[in-house]
Amino acid sequence: MARHQHGSSYDFRMSSSVTAGLVSFEEARRIVEEHAAKVRLSAVESSTAETVDLLAARGRVLAESLTADRDFPPFPRATRDGYAVRATDLEKVPARLNLIGEIKAGDSGEGWKIDSGQAVSIMTGAPLPAGSDSVVMVEYTDLSGALVEVQRGVKTGENFVPRAAEARAGQVLVEPGLRLDHSLIAIAASIGKSRVHVFRKPRIAVLSTGDEVVELDATPGPAQIRNSNSYSLAAQIEEAGGEAVRLAIAPDEPVRLRTLIEEGLACDLLLLTGGVSMGKYDLVEQALTGIGAEFYFTGARIQPGKPVVFGSCVSGSRGSHPNAAKDAALGWGTLGSGQGLLAKGESAGTRTGVSAPHYFFGLPGNPVSTMVTFRLFAQPMIAALAGARPEPLVFLKARLKADVRTKTGLTRFLPAVISGEFENSEVELAAWQGSGDIAALARTNCYLVIPPDRELMPAGELVSVLA
Ligand code: AMP
Ligand code: MG
Repeated sequence: MARHQHGSSYDFRMSSSVTAGLVSFEEARRIVEEHAAKVRLSAVESSTAETVDLLAARGRVLAESLTADRDFPPFPRATRDGYAVRATDLEKVPARLNLIGEIKAGDSGEGWKIDSGQAVSIMTGAPLPAGSDSVVMVEYTDLSGALVEVQRGVKTGENFVPRAAEARAGQVLVEPGLRLDHSLIAIAASIGKSRVHVFRKPRIAVLSTGDEVVELDATPGPAQIRNSNSYSLAAQIEEAGGEAVRLAIAPDEPVRLRTLIEEGLACDLLLLTGGVSMGKYDLVEQALTGIGAEFYFTGARIQPGKPVVFGSCVSGSRGSHPNAAKDAALGWGTLGSGQGLLAKGESAGTRTGVSAPHYFFGLPGNPVSTMVTFRLFAQPMIAALAGARPEPLVFLKARLKADVRTKTGLTRFLPAVISGEFENSEVELAAWQGSGDIAALARTNCYLVIPPDRELMPAGELVSVLA
């Protein structure tokens, strides 16, 4: 397919756009990440942030920075119960100091000052008095009357955190683009934000295909299958930070399929399931080609999920399309304005005449394949559409419980059970009937990752696991 004439820094049709056919797992993931990075820039630029209550923001992506509203800590904060002292007074121990008072957490440290030979009783979280430079732990002291006997010396700076050592007032604590988990929620709370700005959730269309697939409220005929993929995908979409839009089931028939695909492309991303294998009625690729789709890959050397497809339709290539109004609103197809959120060189001008690509994944219909390919490829795209910074796909390590033999050539992600605890995790393959065996998943909790060049992985080997 021809590259558009303005192909410069904001060109979605990058090298990978040449139909890549069947690619390795790593290459497929790289292609997705490349597109996700571009998509994220435009998502961040065009997204209308919304303000939500702090706890409702869990899992959402921050659209603002979180800034320290005062010094952290706002005073020199004791980290132990004990006595605020001068370290030089304890160069020779045991030493005796005069107790001149007590500061507990919540007390003001103002008005307190210790001189040489003095100590103030202090509690964890309380402000140090002027004149002190350390805290000696109560465990190393004996109190009798107004005299504190100290058995151990301290170093200057010991057992307290100086004012502003964690952050200064006005300092950015968290940049936009991070997902709010419990620790970020704690940071927001600590600066007094009961509501936060987050990016809107991208709308992700789910289109199940197949003459045999029926909805949950129908009684399936003897050869019919309930539409479980639509539900597993909706759940995975929510976890990835998107909002699922479940479309009607598409039959294995080109006209209706095309109509539903066009409906789905009006969302921020379209996920199809089924119809991407080599069968006579696997019509998805054909239908997408019919509306001018470009394919970045049409298969990955993985198991399960080999027939997975990734591509986009550039709106203009389909003539009148359901997204024309949305594109115009977002500034696609016109002179881009930049809006100030993109880095230099990424903004106005370079997108002249370029329409927004409408991305899709064709995921295989077998339920386990659908879930695995979502996890490997659709997840990072949805996170990017939600405005989140890219996160690498991380594999854990565990010891293999029993030998595993496979044929070479595919990277495998096989349902497995990880057990053991602490540093003694072990993993073993689950018994299953192949990628249609949804029942087997209830007995598994991870995928064992088998590299494409391994025929035998012996028991005891440290292997990769996708949690
Ligand atoms: P396909 O990828 O269309 O060749 O389908 C592969 C297998 O997945 C077939 O056994 C289908 O019946 C099954 N399948 C396809 N779509 C779904 C769905 N939405 N929910 C559950 N199973 C499905
Ligand atoms: Mg099918």
